[in-house]
Amino acid sequence: MGCKLDQYAEVAGREVIDHLRQLAEPMKGINVVHVNSTREGGGVAEILHRIIPLQQELGINAKWEVITGDPEFYQCTKKMHNALQGDRLYIPETLLKQYEATNRRNYERLQSVLEAADMVYIHDPQPAPLLSLCSNRKGKWIWRCHIDASRPYRPVWKYLRRFVEGYDASIWSLTDFAQPMPHPLYIIPPSIDPLSEKNMELGKKEIEKIYEQYELDPQRPILVQISRFDRFKDPVGVIQAYRMAKAFVPRLQLVLAGGGATDDPEGKDVLIEVMDYSDDDPDIHVLLLPPDAHRTVNALQRISDIALQKSLKEGFGLTVTEAMWKAKPVIGGNAGGIRLQVINHHTGFLVDTPEGAALRIRYLLKNRENLEVMGRRAKEYVRENFLLTRHLREYLTQMVAVMRGSLERIQL
Ligand code: UDP
Repeated sequence: MGCKLDQYAEVAGREVIDHLRQLAEPMKGINVVHVNSTREGGGVAEILHRIIPLQQELGINAKWEVITGDPEFYQCTKKMHNALQGDRLYIPETLLKQYEATNRRNYERLQSVLEAADMVYIHDPQPAPLLSLCSNRKGKWIWRCHIDASRPYRPVWKYLRRFVEGYDASIWSLTDFAQPMPHPLYIIPPSIDPLSEKNMELGKKEIEKIYEQYELDPQRPILVQISRFDRFKDPVGVIQAYRMAKAFVPRLQLVLAGGGATDDPEGKDVLIEVMDYSDDDPDIHVLLLPPDAHRTVNALQRISDIALQKSLKEGFGLTVTEAMWKAKPVIGGNAGGIRLQVINHHTGFLVDTPEGAALRIRYLLKNRENLEVMGRRAKEYVRENFLLTRHLREYLTQMVAVMRGSLERIQL
């Protein structure tokens, strides 16, 4: 649950908190609704869990609604997600009809809340059609895209665009992702909450318990990738990199830990692929975690020597931010939001192939001093750029701009 704003002063500075209160002043009492498609699993839910209580504490009447659907709906929206990230996927008409019908059903349930809201934030494609159903709206509607949509598969984007262009504004995580729109565009990268169970300091005992719990050897180097089991996160590529590096660092251990998200139907298949590929190697630990295993994720990140996030496409990659906050260098795929965080050779390394990842693993493990310097820089980089307080400030600025009807494109 959310912490009191004042507690953030210790991490971010008193003046930052005063500034937030000042910015929020004109928004006191307004009704804001966030809508997405899962309460657990994945970065969007992670952010909403943290940012909504703080918006409430600033006097904004913020609510969170989740749309639900049957398996065909999630099958459709997962395809949409993959197509926006560039997969050339055909989505059958029957699935698109299901998508629209599911939004109609959810609209009936949420109608009064959505009509009355001063501001509605619709996160990602799943609930995007809700706007077209709300003929009696009072407030401003914003589409918040968390996906790496820099090179979407055109036919799918063309279909989705119909629903999105009617919004009053849209928010994207990176300039590269923003698609031309007939409304103002805002660029707001996500953030992590330094006080959440996922990111707070943990006691030594709690951290060390993880070695025993997952049969890891504290005397040997550990690589960790935390991710939903999703092909865009390239878990198989991670195993390939680990195998190549192990030829030079035989004591290496790998942890691939992930859970599912209720709106992601492909996780089970990918997990099976990963298990098969790991081929009973006792030094590859594939962990299926429950959605509330925040402290476990926190501890796994803390016991790692290097964090991997070898994604082929990545909207932002909160797992990268989380690992960097724990002073770990990250070897990340040269994609999307990872590029914003991993400053090559400075806070970690960007790689395009398993071979590249293996080379960097080997380098860092043989150059411990550099590993530590990079880790410390990574933490400072997150402190300066990717904490929740910065994110909240940009949301507030964007709210003021939309409420006042600014027509400028603003990069916050
Ligand atoms: N996560 C988790 N448990 C898992 C896998 C992931 O708590 O087993 C969290 C992870 O710590 C991060 C979020 O889910 O906060 C994933 O966000 P990210 O932006 O990295 O990727 P997404 O899943 O949204 O593509």
